[in-house]
Amino acid sequence: MSVYDYDIGVIGGGAAGLTVASGSAQLGAKTVLVEREELLGGDCLHFGCVPSKTLIKSASVYHQLGRLKEFGLPAVERPPVDFSQVRQRIEQTIATIQHHDSVARFTGLGVDVCFGAAQFVDEHKVDIGDRVLSARKWVICTGSSPYLPPIAGLESSKPLTNRTLFSLETLPESLLVIGGGPIGIEMAQAFNRLGSTVTLLQRSKQILTREDADLADDLRQMLEREGLRIECDLELRGVSRDSSGVRVRVRDADGAEKDFSGSHLLVGAGRSVNVQEMKLENSGVTYTERGIEVDRRMRAGCKHIYAAGDVVGGYQFTHAAGYEGGIVVSNAVMGLPRKTDYRWMPHCTYSDPELAGIGMSEKEARRQGIAGDVIEEPFSGNDRANAESETGGKIKLILDTKGRILGVRILGVHAGDLLSEWVAALNGGVKLSTIASAVHPYPTLGEINKRVVGSIFSEKIFSDRVRRILRTIHRYRG
Ligand SMILES: Cc1cc2nc3c(=O)[nH]c(=O)nc-3n(C[C@H](O)[C@H](O)[C@H](O)COP(=O)(O)OP(=O)(O)OC[C@H]3O[C@@H](n4cnc5c(N)ncnc54)[C@H](O)[C@@H]3O)c2cc1C
Repeated sequence: MSVYDYDIGVIGGGAAGLTVASGSAQLGAKTVLVEREELLGGDCLHFGCVPSKTLIKSASVYHQLGRLKEFGLPAVERPPVDFSQVRQRIEQTIATIQHHDSVARFTGLGVDVCFGAAQFVDEHKVDIGDRVLSARKWVICTGSSPYLPPIAGLESSKPLTNRTLFSLETLPESLLVIGGGPIGIEMAQAFNRLGSTVTLLQRSKQILTREDADLADDLRQMLEREGLRIECDLELRGVSRDSSGVRVRVRDADGAEKDFSGSHLLVGAGRSVNVQEMKLENSGVTYTERGIEVDRRMRAGCKHIYAAGDVVGGYQFTHAAGYEGGIVVSNAVMGLPRKTDYRWMPHCTYSDPELAGIGMSEKEARRQGIAGDVIEEPFSGNDRANAESETGGKIKLILDTKGRILGVRILGVHAGDLLSEWVAALNGGVKLSTIASAVHPYPTLGEINKRVVGSIFSEKIFSDRVRRILRTIHRYRG
């Protein structure tokens, strides 16, 4: 008889924890899942991907109504947005998807689901409030929370974060957004489109600092053309709130101090990992402020405690959490020594147009001293993009000196979906010539993938050398 209550204990019912729990139970391991909130699903379902993408869609539809004349249609007067209706739609979408992450579904898979905040008693035992559970192996999947940068007065001014933004009763009249990363950009554009006056305040010189400057700057211009105000290269000095709203004091690149004010303030300035309240010191697991330290098999310092998802820092995406959860299942449950490989981990910022990527950026390639070519193709050359009046942006292939792909970046309409061809091609080791010769349906946005690769080969095929050889052959044949 086992000395432990469970084979596998999982802490946290978000993307990573649910992946581990379902995989573990379906493989026959006695599995318990502990979640501190009332519902399963984690940040992605309740405060992240799902509400944000639902909001973005509502904002996009409303924005398109303002473009009717561009499409040869009669313009209409748009009534102001009733945010409570948008909020209701967000709640409905969450409720629909919640079925997939319901307790009943996981219980049906064989998982014991318990609610309570988990704290380690020792390396095999976890206190969940009303009892102590023991497991042979524990997996920590506690995710992350909004990070509030140390700016005087910020915390006491009670800013909105992703935890509170989607349950607003009314549309903010004027919204200040701190942070020009993916969350800040997506939400700033969405609220601007819905009718708030939005100003985005960014510390760095460009938005989306990890992206190549040319793409980030192109996107910035497109957002500004829609009326979003973006201020970069700022030092944020302090925040204050009074009955009229909130004020953010900044120092700009020239050293001048100025104030921005708004009715609401949203902070989207990164994430801090959820490690503090678990008494990890009792487990032997070590962490830094970046996250729990794991090896490539997701082991957190000892053989029987693993960690996955946002809590390990690194790639804080739902698909990364699911991937890491799968690595844990292989190692902890199946005993297969599978290691993480993030080389082809894709990402996407769901602005309009989207900015998506896989592999190295041009900036990263140059930082590593790689001097290969960068091949570009604009959306303005794509027939479908023209038919849809969505011609902004371009695709970039970043190549090494031997012409192999290091990375792809796409700024354009549906970039996240267009990236899927590259996800498959790069993971499958598909040759560029295969993509170039594969027939893509016309007219689709996806043809941009074929066309950008085609431009590499067309330079060779239609070169002077080939022309000379063919001319000689034709002459010889008479
Ligand atoms: C606004 C926003 C938009 C986003 N959009 C996208 C997107 O479009 N695409 C994308 O891929 N990613 C997106 N993300 C990121 C994505 O939400 C996260 O990467 C993902 O949720 C991480 O999953 P996780 O399982 O690691 O953590 P979480 O989903 O946060 O789950 C962790 C769970 O652990 C629980 N927990 C914490 N501590 C304890 C404890 N001590 N005991 C018990 N339970 C505990 C928490 O309550 C939570 O349910 C977005 C994030 C935000 C904030």
